[in-house]
Amino acid sequence: MACIHFPQIDLTHVKGVLIDLDNTLYCFSSANAYALRKVHAFLCKKRPMSYAAFEKEYEAGWKRLFGSLGSVPSAHSRFILFQSVLEKNAIPKPYLLACKLEEIYFKNLYKKAKADPQALLFLKECRRQKIPVCLVTDLFGTVQTNKLLRMKLDKYVDFIVTNDELGVDKPHPSLFQRGLEKLGISAKEAIMVGDNPENDIKGAQALGIRSYLVETDK
Ligand SMILES: [Mg+2]
Repeated sequence: MACIHFPQIDLTHVKGVLIDLDNTLYCFSSANAYALRKVHAFLCKKRPMSYAAFEKEYEAGWKRLFGSLGSVPSAHSRFILFQSVLEKNAIPKPYLLACKLEEIYFKNLYKKAKADPQALLFLKECRRQKIPVCLVTDLFGTVQTNKLLRMKLDKYVDFIVTNDELGVDKPHPSLFQRGLEKLGISAKEAIMVGDNPENDIKGAQALGIRSYLVETDK
């Protein structure tokens, strides 16, 4: 499926919009990179290491986590990820520092997250046309709500469906199904918008939801 831009999304006869958050409504990649730099800077006070070495350990930590747990909500936990990295480095009481690193990570991620201008215009247009919007996303409800608040997008989003609500990640159909239920509409009346061809697009299409793969500034 080819990528499109937000203004190309057809809202004719649409009764509700399901939409992804990360790398769809804002650039997660750059906010994540910024937050990880801050985590690394703090970690260096306890255990000096190059950013490249930290990045390598962080990536290896993700692989261990998803390798052992599979694609489930807890595999997205930064606390568990940081703890795993600290344990590998034999840091005493790794859980304490992991908790602090998670706090630093999210504080800086929220700080750096800025709504994509085209995505914002799209959400405003949905509001103008009185089309309700439900976020469908693979991260914890509190984290995603904090992002919406920080970017002042909460005024355009009526509901959220998160992976911790259902215990599964996209593209599991139950997330999209729950989104339809919250909006009170059928699959034919909805559209899904997201940046991931598998998780967002195929997942929604499996339920017969018209889906748009959007190009965002990653
Ligand atoms: Mg995404």
